[in-house]
Amino acid sequence: MIIQTSSLGFGKDFTVTSEIPVEEVNEYFADLEECRALEPLRFEAHLVNHGKFIDLQADISVKLSLCCYRCGEIFTRCFASHVSLKLIEASSVGGVEEVILSEDDLDTITYQDPQIHLNDILLESIYLELDDECLCSDNCKGICIQCGKNLNQGPCSCNLS
Ligand SMILES: [Zn+2]
Ligand SMILES: [Zn+2]
Repeated sequence: MIIQTSSLGFGKDFTVTSEIPVEEVNEYFADLEECRALEPLRFEAHLVNHGKFIDLQADISVKLSLCCYRCGEIFTRCFASHVSLKLIEASSVGGVEEVILSEDDLDTITYQDPQIHLNDILLESIYLELDDECLCSDNCKGICIQCGKNLNQGPCSCNLS
């Protein structure tokens, strides 16, 4: 979804509820092995134009198929996240440095006026979080390095001590 910055009224909350098709999500995640969206990515985004920057708050959710890096099992997870970003027009970077530095609690990202490519921004921000998601459970026991058995299914007969 592309948002024209001219449609954002100054200081007003602009809300969009939409979804990103499975194919587009998976195209973006193509280099993440074994990470696939099973359903469209749904999001609700709020944009507020503050003049020097645009504040973006979005809640996103998507059902993913992932591969556990510890035990190698494929599992599914409903991934939900909140994205909080400050969008800065690319050509103005430098001039608004003080604004960025004074609010370092927010991540900043640039856009090319007059368009904001919302899908790309949302996909990029969750892409960075997915590495932490590739564990089937915090208690995953992994596989035995000697016999290769998945230890979540019970102990093996190797004596590692
Ligand atoms: Zn696991
Ligand atoms: Zn074993």
